[in-house]
Amino acid sequence: MDNKLKVFTWELTQRCNLRCSHCGSDCTSSISEKELDKDEALHVANDLCAFEIGKMVFSGGEPLLCPYWRELARIFGGKTELGMVTNGTLVTKDIARELKMYGFSLISVSIDGMEESHDLRREKGNFKVCMNAAANITGAGLKAGVNTTVTKDNIGELPEMFELLRSIGVTSWQIQPAVPSGRMKDHKDRLLTADDIWTLIQFAHDRNSLARSPAIFLAETIGYYSMMETRARQLAYGWDKLPVWRGCPAGTNSMGILSTGDIVGCISLRDRSFKERNVHDLWREGLTVLDYWNSSGAFRWRRGLSPEKLSGKCGKCQYAACCLGGCSNVRFCFSGTVESSNPMCVYSSEF
Ligand code: SF4
Ligand code: SF4
Ligand code: SF4
Repeated sequence: MDNKLKVFTWELTQRCNLRCSHCGSDCTSSISEKELDKDEALHVANDLCAFEIGKMVFSGGEPLLCPYWRELARIFGGKTELGMVTNGTLVTKDIARELKMYGFSLISVSIDGMEESHDLRREKGNFKVCMNAAANITGAGLKAGVNTTVTKDNIGELPEMFELLRSIGVTSWQIQPAVPSGRMKDHKDRLLTADDIWTLIQFAHDRNSLARSPAIFLAETIGYYSMMETRARQLAYGWDKLPVWRGCPAGTNSMGILSTGDIVGCISLRDRSFKERNVHDLWREGLTVLDYWNSSGAFRWRRGLSPEKLSGKCGKCQYAACCLGGCSNVRFCFSGTVESSNPMCVYSSEF
């Protein structure tokens, strides 16, 4: 298997100045665990320079609350595609100009619906703050993206959102269904069904076919193997060939680090069982992050996953060898194991 690291996501801090009702990471303004300090983070960054990472994303919590984001950006900016996912609260004109100066290409603001439903989920007045942040991002000459977590509460607002995002110059829009992790476990009745996922696919396909901005990017949690979904992705990415989903990239083509220094295949996988090694332990053993990535024991839960291990519909599916059950986080969040079936898969709803 080709285990080339292409995408790295860095949770700079778990601290956040919002307390959204659906937060999958359960972020708050204070945290009990010790996060990496600046010197430790720079050590990780230097370790990562041994990889040829195609894309680096700074995430959180709210990444702009991390006191050393600039120092890290200086290392990666201009060498790899650098992006950030932010709640928008701290993106002033000056910060936007700095983000541009440090070599970021795409800054994605989380917007979860039109004003009323966004503010209900996030914080009163936050919608206007996000609009302002998007204006500051485009004003600084950066590409403005938006990430939207979709539930039954905001799925009906997507067409109106499209027109709004278009009018403020957003070029890329990721839509991702909420999954039952973190605080979203308390709102399971608001989760999308496979039928709702079809609606998302159709929406992205129809809008992307018009070739009008913003391009809609379906998250990896959405799929799999329908012509409409595949075409929607092709249109968004501008690829010549139709893309084929080849399974969850966690630990095979992507990796992340939590603010505490724990290495994970994907920062959405929050359970302790997905924490590989902490960088402090690696360094004590004289190992780098690259040594760990290349070691035989790394990401065993993912690299050792095979179609025979999948149960339920995924275990019987004709695509299982290629798909391996779609998004691992979806399977784990719904059933507590990555070997279970994927309840959000639109293909599985057909048999
Ligand atoms: S969803 Fe994002 S902005 Fe909201 S509390 Fe969590 S990390 Fe903060
Ligand atoms: S049923 Fe499972 S293995 Fe088959 S396409 Fe859906 S997620 Fe993939
Ligand atoms: S767990 Fe899901 S979101 Fe994370 S890398 Fe795998 S497919 Fe992507």
